[in-house]
Amino acid sequence: MSTCIFCRIVEGSIPAKLVRQDELSLAFEDINPQAPTHILVIPKRHIRSVQELDEKDAGLLGHLILACKEIAKERGLAESGYRVVTNVGSYGGQTVFHLHFHLLGGRHMTWPPG
Ligand code: 5GP
Ligand code: ZN
Repeated sequence: MSTCIFCRIVEGSIPAKLVRQDELSLAFEDINPQAPTHILVIPKRHIRSVQELDEKDAGLLGHLILACKEIAKERGLAESGYRVVTNVGSYGGQTVFHLHFHLLGGRHMTWPPG
């Protein structure tokens, strides 16, 4: 069994509120939402962070971003806007070391982020 919490969600060995999935990706509700909509979009394959990506992952990345876009549309966020963000490493604020995009919406975001 994997020690990575998001791999365990992919395996189904720990529960999550699934939003959408396909052969490459999984989307589920964040356990500690920071906005009315807070969904995590992840590759099913374990990749530690953006820092571990290379050229062959370009298609996968596009796939993940397009999943964010589709979910935003389904959630009625397309008009009001939303944020897609990925944290990288310690200074980036990453706490789970399996690549994920946060899809945040339903309120005004502030800038710069903390
Ligand atoms: P990071 O800090 O790495 O950018 O984001 C990790 C995110 O994963 C956080 O927003 C945190 O709330 C979420 N998270 C951590 N553990 C779990 C879990 O077991 N289930 C779900 N659904 N989300 C989690
Ligand atoms: Zn993982």
